[in-house]
Amino acid sequence: MEYKKNDILTVKIEDIGNGGEGIGKVNGYTLFVKDAVIGDTVRCKVMKAKKNYGYAKLEEIIVPSAVRIKPQCQYHRQCGGCQIQAMDYPAQLIFKQNKVKNSLMRIGGFEEEAVEQIMEPIVGMEDAYHYRNKAQFPVGRDKEGNPVAGFYAGRTHDIIVNTDCALGAEENKEILENILTYMKKYHIPPYDEKTGAGLVRHVLIRKGFASGEIMVCLVINYNGKKGRGAEEEEKGNADFLPYQTELIKELEKTHGMTSVSVCINTERTNVIMGDKVYTIWGKDKICDTIYRRNTKDFSLTGDGIVFQISPLSFYQVNPLQTEKLYSLVLEYAGLDGKETVWDLYCGIGTISLFLAGRAKQVYGVEVIPQAVQDAKENAERNGIRNAEFFVGKAEDILPNKYEEEGIRADVIVVDPPRKGCDKECLDTMLKMCPERIVYVSCDPATLARDLRVLCDGGYEVRRVRAVDQFGGTVHVEVVIMMQYCGKRGK
Ligand code: SAH
Repeated sequence: MEYKKNDILTVKIEDIGNGGEGIGKVNGYTLFVKDAVIGDTVRCKVMKAKKNYGYAKLEEIIVPSAVRIKPQCQYHRQCGGCQIQAMDYPAQLIFKQNKVKNSLMRIGGFEEEAVEQIMEPIVGMEDAYHYRNKAQFPVGRDKEGNPVAGFYAGRTHDIIVNTDCALGAEENKEILENILTYMKKYHIPPYDEKTGAGLVRHVLIRKGFASGEIMVCLVINYNGKKGRGAEEEEKGNADFLPYQTELIKELEKTHGMTSVSVCINTERTNVIMGDKVYTIWGKDKICDTIYRRNTKDFSLTGDGIVFQISPLSFYQVNPLQTEKLYSLVLEYAGLDGKETVWDLYCGIGTISLFLAGRAKQVYGVEVIPQAVQDAKENAERNGIRNAEFFVGKAEDILPNKYEEEGIRADVIVVDPPRKGCDKECLDTMLKMCPERIVYVSCDPATLARDLRVLCDGGYEVRRVRAVDQFGGTVHVEVVIMMQYCGKRGK
C-alpha cells in the first residue's frame, strides 16, 4: 500500500529510529512518527510521503504504551534533546541493548547466537536525570523584550525558555535566574543573532560532581577597549560587563561557585565559544576526579585521576557513567604492568591515565592540540610518567610511529567520534597485531562496520557491554574487547 500527504492513519509503534522517532507499519508501509514510543498505538498524519515510507505527525495517542511515562521535563517534545524521555527507564535500556545487538548483526554480520552469548547486560544509571555536568544555555529575548535563557527548539534557533533542564545540575536554575535578574536590572542586552548586536550570547555552566566545584562562563559579544583599557583587558582586569561586581556578588552566593569567567565571541557564527577566556572572579579552572570502580558492582574504589577543567577543555559530560565505562575498559585491556598500550582518540587523556597505572607505557593520540596539552598536564599533576601524547590524526600518527620508529603495541584502545575509525588506522592496527583491542564507541553502526574489518583481519570479539551515558536520549556507548586469534605476522 502507498500513502500520500495528509492521510490520517492508525499505527502501532514497534521500534525507535536513530533520531528517536517511533517506527510502525501500516499495510507494509513504514511510518516514522516523532514523539511516539515503542508500544503506543497512535493516530498520525502523513507529512511527507515516499514510495515505501513516510514521515508522520503525532495527532493522538489512542492506546498508550505500557512503558509510556510522564516525562520530568515539560519541554521535551519541543526541545528535541531528549527524544525518548517519555519511555520509562528500563524500557530505554532494553531499546539501547537491542540497538547494539541489531547493529552487530545487521551491519557487522555477526550471528545472533554469538552476539547473545557474549553480550553482557547494559550498565544503566542510578538516576537518569540530572546527570550532565555541563550545560550551555543560549540567551535571548522574549516577546516583551525581557532577557531569557533556555534551549534551542530542535533544529531551529528559537529559544525555549527553560532554566531548569532535567538533565543538568540542580544549581543551573539559580545561576541562570541570577544572571537574568542582573541583566534585567542593569539593562544588559542579550545578543541578537539576526543583527549581531547585544552582549550576552550564552551561559556555560560546569560542575565537578566529585569536587562540588562550579564554573560559570558568560560568552559575550565584546568588542574591546581602545588605549589604556586594552592593556588592562589583556591582563583580564577590565570590566567586560557593565556593573560586573554586581553580577559577581550574585553568582558568588551559589554553593560551590569556584570560577566566573567571560569568553569573547564576536563572530557571527553559531559556534558557541570564542577562543579568549578571562577569569573575572575566583580560579581559572575547576577540578574533578574520575574514580576507578569495581566492575562487579560498580562500587567506588579509592583510586582516581584528578582533572583540571577550563571553560574550553573537553571533559566527559556524565562523569558517573564514564567511571563505569573506563573501569570496564581497564578490565577488558587485561593489563599486568608489562604492556605497551596505545590509546587512540585520547581527548584529554582520561583513558590513557586510567591505563597508565597498570601498563609499562601508554601512548595517546589526539587531533586537538589543546586537548593534548591538557592530557600532558593531567599526567603531570597525577604523577604519571609513563604516558606520552602525540598531536595528530590517529590514521597518520599510528602508521608513522609503527613503520618509521617501530613502536609496537600489546593492547590498542580506540574511542573514536561517531564516524568510527579511518580505514588506514584499522589497517595499521591489523599490521601491529596487538594481543587485544578494546573499542569504545558512541555509534553502534560504525562500531559494527569496524569490527567486521578487524574480525576479517584475525580478531575475535570476546566481550561486549553497552553503558548508558545519556538517559532520555537515543544515544548509547559500547565497549568491546577483541582478542587476536589468527596467525601472527599476517
Ligand atoms: N577518550 C576521550 C574522548 C574521546 S572523544 C576521553 O575520554 O576524554 C573522541 C576524540 O577523538 C575527540 O577528542 C576528538 O577530538 C578526537 N579525534 C577526532 N578525529 C580524530 C582523528 N582522526 N585522530 C585522532 N583523534 C581524533
